[in-house]
Order: sequence, then C-alpha cells, then structure tokens
Amino acid sequence: MALEEKREKRPPVTPMMIEEEAALRNGSRGLPPGPWAEAAGPRPRTTERHIAVHKRLVLGFAVSILALLAVTMIAVLLSVRFEECGAAADGPPRAGGNGSLSGVARQPHGAGQSPRPEEDARGGEAVEEEEEEEEEEEWQRRRELPPWARPRLPRHLRPLHYNLMLTAFMENFTFSGEVNVQLEVRNASRYIVLHAHRMHIEAVRVAEDKLAGGVRVARTFFYPQTQVFVVVLNRSLEVQKSYNLKIIYNALIENELLGFFRSSYVLHGERRFLGVTQFSPTHARKAFPCFDEPIYKATFKISIRHQATYLSLSNMPVETSVFEEDGWVTDHFSQTPLMSTYYLAWAVCNFTYRETVTKSGVVVRLYARPDAIRRGSGDYALNITRRLIEFYEDYFKVPYSLPKLDLLAVPKHPYAAMENWGLSVFVEQRILLDPSISSILYLLDVTMVIVHELCHQWFGDLVTPVWWEDVWLKEGFAHYFEFVGTDYLYPGWNMEKQRFLTDVLHEVMLLDGLASSHPVSQEVQQASDIDRVFDWIAYKKGAALIRMLASFMGHSVFQMGLQDYLTIHKYGNAARNDLWNTLSKALKRVGKSVNIQEVMDQWTLQMGYPVITILGNETTDNIIVISQERFVYDSDTKPKDPARGDNSYLWQIPLTIAVGNTSHISSEAIIWVSNKSEHHRIPALEEASWLLGNINQTGYFRVNYDIRNWKLLINQLTRNHEVISVSNRAGLIDDAFNLARAGYLPQNIPLEIMRYLSEEKDFLPWHAASRALYPLDKLLDRTENYNIFNEYILRQVASMYLKLGWPTNNLNKSLVQASYQHEELRREVIMLACSFGNKHCHQQAATLISDWISSNRNRIPLNVRDIVYCTGVSLMDEDVWEFIWMKFHSTTAVSEKKILLEALTCSDDRNLLNRLLNLSLNSEVVLDQDAIDVIIHVARNPHGRDLAWKFFREKWKILNARYGEALFMNSKLVSGVTEFLNTEGELRELKNFIKSYEGGAAVSFSRAVETVEANVRWQRLYKEELFQWLRKSLTQ
Ligand SMILES: [Zn+2]
Repeated sequence: MALEEKREKRPPVTPMMIEEEAALRNGSRGLPPGPWAEAAGPRPRTTERHIAVHKRLVLGFAVSILALLAVTMIAVLLSVRFEECGAAADGPPRAGGNGSLSGVARQPHGAGQSPRPEEDARGGEAVEEEEEEEEEEEWQRRRELPPWARPRLPRHLRPLHYNLMLTAFMENFTFSGEVNVQLEVRNASRYIVLHAHRMHIEAVRVAEDKLAGGVRVARTFFYPQTQVFVVVLNRSLEVQKSYNLKIIYNALIENELLGFFRSSYVLHGERRFLGVTQFSPTHARKAFPCFDEPIYKATFKISIRHQATYLSLSNMPVETSVFEEDGWVTDHFSQTPLMSTYYLAWAVCNFTYRETVTKSGVVVRLYARPDAIRRGSGDYALNITRRLIEFYEDYFKVPYSLPKLDLLAVPKHPYAAMENWGLSVFVEQRILLDPSISSILYLLDVTMVIVHELCHQWFGDLVTPVWWEDVWLKEGFAHYFEFVGTDYLYPGWNMEKQRFLTDVLHEVMLLDGLASSHPVSQEVQQASDIDRVFDWIAYKKGAALIRMLASFMGHSVFQMGLQDYLTIHKYGNAARNDLWNTLSKALKRVGKSVNIQEVMDQWTLQMGYPVITILGNETTDNIIVISQERFVYDSDTKPKDPARGDNSYLWQIPLTIAVGNTSHISSEAIIWVSNKSEHHRIPALEEASWLLGNINQTGYFRVNYDIRNWKLLINQLTRNHEVISVSNRAGLIDDAFNLARAGYLPQNIPLEIMRYLSEEKDFLPWHAASRALYPLDKLLDRTENYNIFNEYILRQVASMYLKLGWPTNNLNKSLVQASYQHEELRREVIMLACSFGNKHCHQQAATLISDWISSNRNRIPLNVRDIVYCTGVSLMDEDVWEFIWMKFHSTTAVSEKKILLEALTCSDDRNLLNRLLNLSLNSEVVLDQDAIDVIIHVARNPHGRDLAWKFFREKWKILNARYGEALFMNSKLVSGVTEFLNTEGELRELKNFIKSYEGGAAVSFSRAVETVEANVRWQRLYKEELFQWLRKSLTQ
C-alpha cells in the first residue's frame, strides 16, 4: 500500500505519526518458525518486563470480565427492548432466500449491532438467554475470555478455500453474497468465529463436507467489539474433519473509502458510478464473512453477477461469463493461489483499457475512465509496469505468480495505491500522466508508486508478514525498492544512492527523533490498532534499515538472501526472524559471520536512533573516542517509559569512517560500535586531517564531531568540496541542521556549512539544505527579526540563481532522462529564490502569469509551474487568485488540478484563505483526499497558520467523522496543522483543545504536543543565539 506522498514544492516536514504506549510493549516478540502453528499463540516475553506484564494481564483480565458482564446485561436488555419496538432492522434490502435450507439458522438482526439472540425454531428466547448465561459463566469459571471476545481469532479452525458469489446492484448500491468456506478443524469446538462487519446475514448453514445433512446451528450472533460473527453449534466440530460453512448475506456498497465502496466520475456530462474494494488492513470483513487475518491464507474462487453494461474485475482472469436474458451477466474468475484476505479485490465499473504483455507472458492491462484511456494518459504506467515486472522477475529470480496484472485508476481512494495481487488499485493522480503537462516531480511520483506496488506482488502478496506488527517487512521493502526500481528505469538518476537520503532517511529521522516515536516493529492487538502501523516509521525507517543492512552485507549477498527468502516462503507467511535467518545463511555462504538477528533486533525493537560522537583531537597516538547516545530533539521530554531512561538505549552500529585532508580521502573502514563509549586507533591521523563518519550515509544514525573537526570539514567544503562525496555533503548539511536544532551543536555551524553551496553544482546537497531550512524557516517566519534570516538565505542562493537562470523550453521525455539532475537543481534554486523573495524571481513569476492571463496560453515551463503559480498568487491581486481558481475548475489533467489548488493557498489575503478553507469541505468542489492538503498548505503559509489552526478546531467534528477511520489521513491532518505552531499561546490552545476534543487520533495529538513543545523550547533557548550570529555575519 502506498501512502499519499508528494514531493512538495517546499519540502514537507514529516507527518507526525502514531505510536503506541511504550509501557505496553515487550522486548522480545520474535515469532518462532512455523508461522501457522504459533501465529496466534502467546508471545514470549522478556524477564525484565515479565512481572509488570503479568500484573497488567491480570488486571486486564478482570476488566474484561467486568466488561463482558456489562455487555451481556445490555444485550439482554436490548433484546427485550427490541421485541417491544418490533424488528425494524434498517439494513440493506434482502437478497437471496432465507430459512429454506435445512439445518439453517436465520439471523434477523442488522449487521454489527449489539449481540442479540436470534429467533429460532426450537422455541423461546428465554431458553437461549439461559444458555447464553450459562455459557458466559462457564468461560468465567475457566478464567478465559470467550473465543469471540479475544482480540485475535481463535485458532481451532482454519479456512482452506472460499467460494464467493456476489451480485452487485449498482442502481441502489447494495450487494448480496453467498460465501462457502471450507474449514479444517484443528481443535474440537462448538464455535465458529470469523470476521464480519456491517452486513446483514440472512442464513447460515454448516455441513460436514461432501455429506448430506447439516450440523445443527444452535444460534448465531454478531460481536461488534471484535468485529466477528459467531456460529454456535449443537455439537462440536471434530478434529481433522473438514466442514463447509455457508453464509448468505447482503450489505451496502458504501459511500466511504473502505470495504466494497462506490465512487463516481463524469463522462460527457453524465455521472457514472463504479464499485471497488479496499480491504487492507481489516476491511475485507465488511465485504464478506471471512477469517480476516493475514495468516489465514486460503484459495478463493470468486463469481460476480452484474448488469451487462458494467464489467467486473478481480485478482484472477475471468474463466467463463454466463449471460442471462434480462441483461445480467455472471463472471466466474479462476481460482487464486493461496493468499490472505487483505489483498483480495474486485471491481465493477465501465472503464476501458489498454494492454501489453511481458516477455514471460504476463498480460498487463491498465483500466481507467474511457476519456483518459483515449488520451493515452495510462500509457506511461502501462509501459513501465511491463518493464518492472521483467526487472523484479530477474532480481528476485521468482516469476510473477499470476497470469495477469490489472492496474485500475480510480477517482477516489484512501491511499495512493493498493497492491491487490493481480488487481492493483491506484488513485488517478498517482498513475495517469499526460506527458505534455507533467513535471519531473509528477513523473517521479507516478513512477515510484508503481514500482512500490509491483514490489508488493512479491513482498506482501507472494510472501506475507505473519502479523501486522511486522508490516514494515512488506512496506519497508516496497519503499526501499521504489528507489532501486526507479534506478533500473532511469539509470542516471542515482535514486538509491542519492535521493533516498533526502526523501527517506532525512525525513524519517526528523520523526524518529521525537521522544514519543515508536519501534518499527510494533505490537498490535486490537483491530483498531492495525491502521496505526501504516505510518512513516514502518515505511521510511523500514526502508532505511533495509538499506543499511544491504550495505553492510554487500548488495549482491543481500540480493541472494532475498531470492532465498522469497523461494522458501512463497505462498506462505514469514516473520522478521525468518528473514534474518535466511540473510545470515547467505552471509555464511560467502564466509562472513554476522548474527543479523542480534544486530537488527536492536534497530527494529528499539525506537529512535543513535547519534555517534567522534572525538578526534582529545587524545594522542591516533586514538579517537567514539560514543553513542539516543538522539532526541527535546531533551526535556520525559522518556515515555520511565523505567527506561534514554541512557539504556544501545545499538550495534556499523560505523564506516574515513580520514581526509585537503585533496584526498582515505578508503572507508568499518567499526562496529556496540558500547556507550569506545576507543579506536585510526592510522594516518595527521594534524590537519579531518574525520568523516557514516560514509555515503548508508547508516541510520547521525554523526557529531568536536568543533575543531566541524571547522576542518567546513574548510574542506569551502576549498574543495568534491573530496567529500555528494551523499556525504548532503548528510553533513542535514546532520548539522538537526544537531543544532536539538541543541547538540552551536546554531552557527549549519549556517556556516551552507556557505559553500554557491559552488555546489549537484542537486542533492541543495535539496538537503532546502529541506533542512524549511522547519527553521517555519520557526522564524512570524518573528520580528525574520528579515535577517531571510536576507542571509537570499545571499547564499543569489549567485547560483544567476548562474542557472530559468528553464526556457518544456521537457520532453529524452530531456527528462538526460538532464534530471540539472533540471531538479535549477528548480530547487528557483524555489528557494522565489520563496525567500529574490526580486528577479518574483518579477519573472509575475511576468509569466501575466502572459498566461493576457494570451490565455500557458507557456510556463512545466517543471516550475507550481512555484510560479504560488508566487503569482502570493504577490499579485485577487484577480490572479480568481483566474487560478477558474483554471482549477476547468482543467481535466489531474496533475495540473493539484498544483492549481495548492497555489490558491499561497495568498497573503486572509479573506481569500478563509474562503478557500470553507470551500475545501465541499466535496463537489474539492475531492475528499485533497481537502486535507488545502488545510495543511494554508497552515504552512505564515499568513494562514492561525486561520487553518482555528478552522481545524472549529471543524474537528466534521473532519474526524470524514477521515477518522482512515487513520493515516487523520494523523496527517493533525500533524500538518500543528507542526509549525511555536508560541506559548498556541501550545496552550493545543492543550486546551485536546482536553475537550472527541474522536480518534489521540496518539497524533500527543505527538503534536511534543513537537510544539520542542518548537517553543527552541525559540526560548536558541533563537537569539541564531539571530546574533546572523547579524554579525551580515555586517562582515
Ligand atoms: Zn505498500
């Protein structure tokens, strides 16, 4: 799944994400081999936590029992009340017969409500209630939660195969379904517990496989707390036997973005609808009753009945289609291989497609709205998909597993894309591309999302994480491969070596440097926790750790290890220890011995990352002192787990180090640092030589030095920066800015480093500087001395801006390939110049906009359009705003629409900003997923920050209702609106708001408080120091 990510015109600052209570974590959560057998079992716990955990368990147990009693009482009361009112269940219209099957139990009540005994033929609810009470008491006596109340499905049953027959009624957005699940019994039990949520169940039948005569169903009920449906049988299912569970149900094709949902678009003035699914992570249960945990892999045979004016798609190709006389058709799809529920998918739409075939015979189709297909907007995606399948097949040495892959471009989707096996779904803005009006950035976004989802066809779909705590195993890999795969398509771009640093490493270290971060593997119990694990820590830290691992293993050994891992675990599940074992073996084969599990557990189970300090000039005899400590932005923040101070954090760090002097740098040596402080001998350390750690920034940590070494490095950059690699130049800039922000380093050091940039011709260091400056800029942009800072940055940018000038012509494909670095550098410098107020830059932007308005021809170079639009709107009068607003409505190209909308947030006019904020909640005008960006962008504008913050608080109820369930969007919004608040007053407002608010995202708010506290603290401690240095520097 790709989260909505955008390479911003101004660098984005980390969405603050979610984490869990550190106190509830336990250290050793490795699952033993044989994932099926142990997956749902109790987890081993470390002894140090054992006692506390035990107490919590006892307490939790007691609370659960009380809660259970209360729920039962309420259920009984409700059922009595319900009788009085009459059974007016307001579920969707019923479909399919009911009650006509032998051994069938009917479930009269609407889905997902409180448990209620069913009507039944054996007479009397009183009997049932008694039975229920007896059952509850029985579980209490056994001091156990009943199987339906446990956070994970009980493991006595396992689904082997599903036959799913659906009928989609697109005219009233409902569907009916019949699912037949073949079950294997592992432990005898009277209960069948499986996930089902928000559906109306018509009938249930259980039969011993291939034998006539059912197993009698005693009663059925929903248990909404765990989103399960329970079938209670008259007798126990027997071990080793196989049974068939049939459920007939119906539900809505929802008007929200999860489960089986609907969406629409306008073609030739007419609104057309489509139905599509988003099941990851826990929404398959809204579309059919199923064992909705990744470990329950089964085969699926799906049939979809729909009106012949639509077509249907699913993971597998259509095997046969049966047409009926009344204009309906049933598509029967081939059976899938073993797979989990979360990447099952289907769609009912009237899209058209284009098609291509890979060398190995995989048919790739891109489906989209007919006008987009006709324009050729899907051709780029289709073309690179074919090449990427070939790339992955070659890299992993495992062929793509299905006969076809469909890419589906939909107008509305909660994420950028979802990797459903054989039917991946993308939001239009992340897959359609009109080459004549797309910037390099847009092309890069589209490319990387596709590379990401294709990687998942192997990492995620073919081999699936055992449980959501290791979601980074699939997301980290897919994110890392975005860069490797893009390098394959565009060999000169150096994505993995360079752009990875600014877009992934630097960005996630911002986030992971907060005391309230969380480990990349996070324990997950409740369904409601699962959305949380899809955050930037899982994606970006996961990717950064994988890159560090690949780099200390050596890339070819790493690749061999991955090939083994996929081959061993294909069509199955794997946990992180499975990966570590396979990789250790691969290393052993080439004669190296590193205990990868031991090393990586420290990086995946501990939150945060270390800062290494290298002291070179304090000892003699070429001895240096290397120490490590946990890096945190705000050292005043109390550690989340008081039992564990920051001092107890230790990592085994693969520190690469080199020694340099004015014209030369030594080859790197690797030192494994595992203690708080260590002494190491470095040969050839002379008087004027400097030390450089973390060569090419392959490691996930920061490096600090004594001031003398920093000065030597600055000197080197100024005299001959090319002695130090491009990646390390970018790394030094990012480390220095962040070390200073956190108070590890004087404020002037990063600004002194920046001075060499006037000679820097590579894109990456500029990009790193620009991104690092951004949060600093936001800390200062409403202070009275802001112009001093502004002036300093303008001086650093001026000469490179003059040298590079503006792009003159539009980009074509070959130009993109050849001059990516140069064009991106030019763009970066223009962006800095325009946003810090370079007069020429402003004039140029205004001229280009005026030309567009007067000629009604847009001649603005593609790669800087967003900068020009934004600058134009901020400088020019209301007419320009209206012009851009009009263009936003009239354009059909998705890339253009997005940047026009964002440009509207750049205005200085508070009335216009308010107007825009209010319009953003009108779904007819602004797509739901874009409304968040509007609010966040207004918050980035110093003239709009308080407006967005006020708007957010006033509209919180509406926003939370809209995005609450897609937690990622909600926390993106919370962080985007709050991350640049930096006054005592705003901190108070935030805390007051949190006291009174309702809704989810509690963790996002606690992160927001930490961030704003750190901002306020920086203002108090370091702002004046920075201004003093700037004043002095500007008068020199
Ligand atoms: Zn993904």
